[in-house]
Amino acid sequence: MNGTLLRNEPMSKHTSWHAGGPADLYFTPTDAADLGEFLRELPPEVPTLWIGLGSNLLVRDGGVRGAVIATHGALNALERIGETRIHAEAGVPCARIARQCIKWALGPADFFAGIPGTLGGALAMNAGAWGGETWTHVVEVDVLDRRGTRRTRTPADYEIGYRHVRGPQQEWFIAARMEFDLKPDADETLIRDLLERRRQTQPIGEWSCGSVFTNPPGDHAARLIESAGLKGFRIGDASVSEKHANFIINHGAATAADIEAVILHVQRTVADAYDVRLHPEVRIVGERA
Ligand SMILES: Cc1cc2nc3c(=O)[nH]c(=O)nc-3n(C[C@H](O)[C@H](O)[C@H](O)COP(=O)(O)OP(=O)(O)OC[C@H]3O[C@@H](n4cnc5c(N)ncnc54)[C@H](O)[C@@H]3O)c2cc1C
Repeated sequence: MNGTLLRNEPMSKHTSWHAGGPADLYFTPTDAADLGEFLRELPPEVPTLWIGLGSNLLVRDGGVRGAVIATHGALNALERIGETRIHAEAGVPCARIARQCIKWALGPADFFAGIPGTLGGALAMNAGAWGGETWTHVVEVDVLDRRGTRRTRTPADYEIGYRHVRGPQQEWFIAARMEFDLKPDADETLIRDLLERRRQTQPIGEWSCGSVFTNPPGDHAARLIESAGLKGFRIGDASVSEKHANFIINHGAATAADIEAVILHVQRTVADAYDVRLHPEVRIVGERA
């Protein structure tokens, strides 16, 4: 095992909300083989939490028992393996896939540009934007199980929907092969326009996790939250964004408990006002302090 193993690593350093208590162990492998070795040696009773860029993760203030496995900065390969096919490892940032696909004249992959996570996180969430979705393009994925055994799977092995992916338990993504169309006219202005549209409507640059709730069928979570009068609602240093009501901002010193309390208040208020239950898109993990 050649990767880096840290103890009591604050998860606030690894999440886009900049909140969250310590992980008992925080492992960054050197590559997929090193990760397999780590998993084989880790006692089977130790739980694992895989993390990409932590852009969809609320880690509670008591932190994470067991081992966090970081793919970003580790599983970094991105290559073209056919005229319209790419192979990408799980730690590759989505934005890099968007830019590289344009260089390869492949698309549509520009939707990845605004997703500030890794491919692994995008596979776990079926991340998407502007009509594009991760799994639309997946041909095969490589996974590791808890004992470090590697397998290849196809989309048929998963139940896939809007921000929803369910597959075999205790397996995590290490790479994917993805198929795109040839787009000889693709250029970077596509990405620039998309990022500009985002800047106009979302509080980009502030500490958030993007949209906190999935959209209920036929409606928008942001519309419901805004019309319930919740823009600006604040607990501690966490508040509902004034710019986009489905974002919750950490203004600097919010704890995970503050953020979770805002999430719960928004859910209750919207349920009381409209009889609609909002479901968090963000993954809430770890122990309360
Ligand atoms: C400003 C902003 C804008 C955003 N806009 C969008 C958007 O337009 N569309 C959208 O879909 N999302 C959006 N997001 C949310 C987020 O970026 C995506 O969900 C992204 O796919 C998460 O990737 P990540 O690497 O950060 O995952 P993390 O937050 O690290 O993890 C998310 C989940 O995936 C799991 N996971 C991570 N890596 C793996 C792996 N290798 N194998 C198995 N499971 C894994 C984690 O355990 C966790 O459950 C936005 C977030 C922010 C902060």
